[in-house]
Amino acid sequence: MLSVLVAMAALGAAHAQANDRPSTPKPLLAETLALKFLKSLPREWSGTSARDCETYADKNIDRLSPAFAMSAARFLHAFVETHGHVTITSAHRTAQEQACVCEGEKGPCAGRPRIVKIKRGRRIVRRSTSRHQSGIALDVRAGTGTDDEFGCLHEFAQFNPQFGVRFPLGKRDRPHMEPAANHRPVRVAGIGMIRSQVRPCARLNGTLVDAPVD
Ligand SMILES: [Zn+2]
Repeated sequence: MLSVLVAMAALGAAHAQANDRPSTPKPLLAETLALKFLKSLPREWSGTSARDCETYADKNIDRLSPAFAMSAARFLHAFVETHGHVTITSAHRTAQEQACVCEGEKGPCAGRPRIVKIKRGRRIVRRSTSRHQSGIALDVRAGTGTDDEFGCLHEFAQFNPQFGVRFPLGKRDRPHMEPAANHRPVRVAGIGMIRSQVRPCARLNGTLVDAPVD
């Protein structure tokens, strides 16, 4: 864990530097560290589809948009430091993987073909695109996934807009995280500074764990 902390501090520093000089290309190091941190988190199938499509695998993390991967890594790092466990259940998805996760999913699912009525009673098949397919969505479970734990995760994103992430679907899709609209990254020098600037969620005092307590 220590190496990850050092890595995250470097990530913050590299990111701040990038903001100073917007003309230089994004530092590869910061992206690599962000992906490394995301891969260090527990990852597993959410169990909401018919079968495990393994969209939390290394290859799916690697295909996230670099800017979103950095926001997500910094947000989740701060959340873990403040409140405890998170588990990644889905990252980038190909069109095929999107179709796979829609199988058995009860609610609406982007990518599932829908029959849409158009002019003069004609019908066409329409297939929408999930943000996961663009690499700008990550599904994350807080602790064991209770209402309070998810509520805390959502609150943490609201209270700390500096990380640039949000949970746009709220209770309709509690794990679904996306980049915040119009987010401008703030300068962050290191991990210590991040911690002092973080506002914890109000609803949970204890530490979140990844296994239910009997
Ligand atoms: Zn999602």
